[in-house]
Amino acid sequence: MKKDLIDILDLSTGEIDELIATAEDIIANPDAYAEKCARKKLATLFYEPSTRTRLSFESAMYELGGHVIGFSDATNSSVSKGESVADTAKTVNCFADIIAMRHPKEGAPYVASLNCSIPVINAGDGGHNHPTQTLTDLLTIHREMGRFEGLTVGCCGDLKFGRTVHSLLAAMSRYAGVRFVLISPEELRIPEHVRTEILDKQGIEYSEVRSLEEAMPQLDILYMTRVQRERFASEEEYLRLKDSYILTPEKLLTAKADMRILHPLPRVNEISVGVDADERAAYFRQVHNGKYIRMALILKLLENNAKGAKKSTLPPEETLRRDLKCSHGRCITGIEQELPHIFRLTDGEDGVYRCIYCDTKA
Ligand SMILES: [Zn+2]
Repeated sequence: MKKDLIDILDLSTGEIDELIATAEDIIANPDAYAEKCARKKLATLFYEPSTRTRLSFESAMYELGGHVIGFSDATNSSVSKGESVADTAKTVNCFADIIAMRHPKEGAPYVASLNCSIPVINAGDGGHNHPTQTLTDLLTIHREMGRFEGLTVGCCGDLKFGRTVHSLLAAMSRYAGVRFVLISPEELRIPEHVRTEILDKQGIEYSEVRSLEEAMPQLDILYMTRVQRERFASEEEYLRLKDSYILTPEKLLTAKADMRILHPLPRVNEISVGVDADERAAYFRQVHNGKYIRMALILKLLENNAKGAKKSTLPPEETLRRDLKCSHGRCITGIEQELPHIFRLTDGEDGVYRCIYCDTKA
């Protein structure tokens, strides 16, 4: 296992299976874990508010018997005075045993991981990665269905900007016999790079449809996401399409009896409250699972680091280029002038270089 969790693909399927097994054991025997992290400190460094994710991390650490320090909003800390992420990481390294970092700029948790010897968990960086949400989704699917193999997973809503969907596709694509049904309006289809780099590369069977009703009967999992008004070309277009992506009890009439509905939350109106009482609605159980998988993750990363996990380093120098500039507006290099722009040659893409922080193509 690596020292840090920055991207869900940092974990092998074997490591994910191990985390899920640990989370399931914690759920079955919580008392056995109540002192596992006694005297250990988790630093929650939240450069933008995300109350739900922060509370999940904090309650996870408390239930392991540990302590929590940190900030929930960058305006009240030294980082508002312009301290770099690298300096903050070096400082916190002296006080805490593990870091959970949320940052509006992509690549910030990776920069932190390179600059400290304690584990760093990416708790969401811009529109880039949010691996503990994906672990939460995976634990929920595993607990509800008992397996990953052979499932037909429908993803519905905003598939263009929805990072939780992209990570779920990447993680689930590694299990045998998984099929995807991608349900979205034309303007919010899955991006080309996700299609080629994840689905086509892994040889995954998938279909793209416009109608939730059409997809419903074949699904084992329905992963709902929010369709935001501002993503549409016009108000008229939004009003025409929005109801087709709202899940109601009527739309569930043709669904399998053991299908499960997931949603990363918060929901706005994309699942009617009438669905909540249906036993197939798993989204509140999913929130609960989020705490348990974070407990398993904190525990494993601390154990792993105590055994002397390898310090994070840059990829091998011969795969890097330092003469290119990243122009992605949400990249951490955009706000930290002294951070070197570095691109790496990617696996499986001929001659393609990507920013080591935000993965944007050169
Ligand atoms: Zn970048």
